[in-house]
Amino acid sequence: MSVTLSVLVQTPAHSGVGGPLTYLSEEALPIGTLVRVPLGQRELLGIVWDAGHGLPAQGETALRLRPIAGVLHPLPALNPAWQALIRFTARYYQRSEGEVALAALPPSLRELSPEQLTRRLKRKAAAPKSKNTAEPLAPQPVKAVDRIPVPPNGLALTAEQEAVLHQMATQKGPFLLFGSTGSGKTEVYMQAVQRLLQAEPSAQALVMVPEINLTPQLEQRFRERFEPWLGAGCVVAMHSAMTPAQRLNSWLAAHNGQARMVLGTRMAVLASMPHLRLIVVDEEHDPSYKQQEGARYSARDLAVYRGQLEGAQVVMGSATPSLESWHHSRAASPDKPAGRYVRLHMPSRMGQSALPLVRRVDMNRQPRRTVFSGVLLDAMRERIGLGQQILVLLNRRGYAPVLHCPSCHWKSQCPHCSAFQVFHKLNRTLRCHHCSHTTAVPRACPECGDTDVRAMGRGTEQLEELLATQLEGVRRPDGAAPRIARIDADSTRAKGALENQLAQVHAGEVDVLVGTQMIAKGHDFRRVSLVAALDTDGALFSSDFRAPERLFSLLMQAAGRAGRDAQWSQQAGHACEMWIQTHYPQHPLFDALKRHDYPAFAEEQLQEREQAGMPPFSFQALLRAEARTQDAAQSFLKAVSLAAAELPGADRLSLYPPVPLGIQRVAQVERAQVLVESASRTALQQFLTAWQPLLRSARTQHRAVLRWAIDVDPLVI
Ligand SMILES: [Zn+2]
Ligand SMILES: [Zn+2]
Repeated sequence: MSVTLSVLVQTPAHSGVGGPLTYLSEEALPIGTLVRVPLGQRELLGIVWDAGHGLPAQGETALRLRPIAGVLHPLPALNPAWQALIRFTARYYQRSEGEVALAALPPSLRELSPEQLTRRLKRKAAAPKSKNTAEPLAPQPVKAVDRIPVPPNGLALTAEQEAVLHQMATQKGPFLLFGSTGSGKTEVYMQAVQRLLQAEPSAQALVMVPEINLTPQLEQRFRERFEPWLGAGCVVAMHSAMTPAQRLNSWLAAHNGQARMVLGTRMAVLASMPHLRLIVVDEEHDPSYKQQEGARYSARDLAVYRGQLEGAQVVMGSATPSLESWHHSRAASPDKPAGRYVRLHMPSRMGQSALPLVRRVDMNRQPRRTVFSGVLLDAMRERIGLGQQILVLLNRRGYAPVLHCPSCHWKSQCPHCSAFQVFHKLNRTLRCHHCSHTTAVPRACPECGDTDVRAMGRGTEQLEELLATQLEGVRRPDGAAPRIARIDADSTRAKGALENQLAQVHAGEVDVLVGTQMIAKGHDFRRVSLVAALDTDGALFSSDFRAPERLFSLLMQAAGRAGRDAQWSQQAGHACEMWIQTHYPQHPLFDALKRHDYPAFAEEQLQEREQAGMPPFSFQALLRAEARTQDAAQSFLKAVSLAAAELPGADRLSLYPPVPLGIQRVAQVERAQVLVESASRTALQQFLTAWQPLLRSARTQHRAVLRWAIDVDPLVI
């Protein structure tokens, strides 16, 4: 006797088959069980999804159902809370459940047969214990009281940290931890995890950071703190730079409850953690939390939802919170003093080190084409002479954004994109940062043959070169010439390159570090006493309404790199400084920055957004289409916009006319989009759900359209 099962598998994004398929099984299996099923000629990983009956698998009729191919028996079933999270993610971000669920599992799990998985788990269980292993690796119920019952000694807490932890212990949250750079947020996270595990030994905590390169240092701190107490394997990492085998191991440890802490990037928000009780989203403002392909979810927003779903406490931390989160932590109205998020405040830096003094250089008073103003150079020379370090921030890599010919006005346009190929002088190439098309730098202008081809504008490579000449003759206290290094996506491409470069900075071997936003994020440069930001004016007048928010946050974060070692900066006897070269020194953004006044900046921005009806006071989604011609992309968008007028929710939203994207052509593909905006999140969701089938059928009539996708709560418009 066999029973029917409804099984979720990964189906192509726009096949219209998003729901579960029906298979036969000799035994009834619990919902959430992982199985292998045939689909066409292939065999796939699937998840027993619900008790009801799904659609017959492609090409099958209800009378000819196929049996499942196997069961991944050793694994516990995925729990209902995880399933609910997947369902919500799929619904909210307008993707199929099958796509979201299977993408949330480690890729190598999708390939293992039940036999391979069993062998693998056996091998792990039989593996000899490593030196500091305090527990067997096989899945088993956890009894923490059996272990060394001595929790680690954390650092001595400041009064602010204690107060914040007390609030977390007595309130439900979600919390927005608004803490200065260097205020000790990580210690608060660690203490919160520790208190949780002391109270509930089998609990699990998820700690997310925005960037892969921030995970190793965090992992190390957590391991050093918790492994002596809970044994090896209590902390696992989860991010896309891990090998498939590592990812599988981490996922299995989280899924069977053995890993008590999962540290990872945005993908970790969908990890199966049956005993999840605490979620930390560090640097919650960071745009990297938004997935940019497939299901375009915000890991931060999902964390809040997941916390609610599973009864886990959620704490989001930042020195410059996203305006959305800040808004949610404001008083809703005078009679409702509490916002949706509880705001926790840690204004002081550890050890009383002061935030740097912000100095603005009016570039209108400098000679034309000045890169480093004289005053800034003098300050840099002085710092080097004192043995202090300097960060120079320029958010543009390469040598120059474009090459041009002054006689015929030829420019290094990418043949495949509506963008310029960037001049990289070090390897003499022109490289497109959108499609990676790379060519050798021409000896002469390809149009007119003039050999006087010039670089226009500047990137980090050029700054590095320029500084070498402008700092000539300057000496460090040991008499050596200053060392200049560069950190950006180009200099850190090789595996381990970033770690090496950072180690050199920490060891004091580097005096001036030039880099893109990569240097502003999270790293702890203890001997940096001067930070300079160049060419930031573009963001002040950008058409992207989020540009000022991102600039403010970038500058605050960069300023936060300076003077983190209080004792040292006091000895140095020099206030730390942040220099900003700008043509708009009076701009209110710089005023707020000078006062390190994020709340004032946020209030001003939120007022503007409220008046303009922009997020967080409205809700947005984008429909993007890609085609060989701009015309084809736009006519698809026009047709589906026209047909959308009668859909539910359509009367409560605005559908803007189709426009080309900022960079409209990438790799020979033309891109256009339609913005959908509503004051009601519900109306927007209702509308998008009803729009989907219409989009799928319209696509069959617009064959020139290669792809379309919906982006809910987009970060870039
Ligand atoms: Zn020319
Ligand atoms: Zn290109």
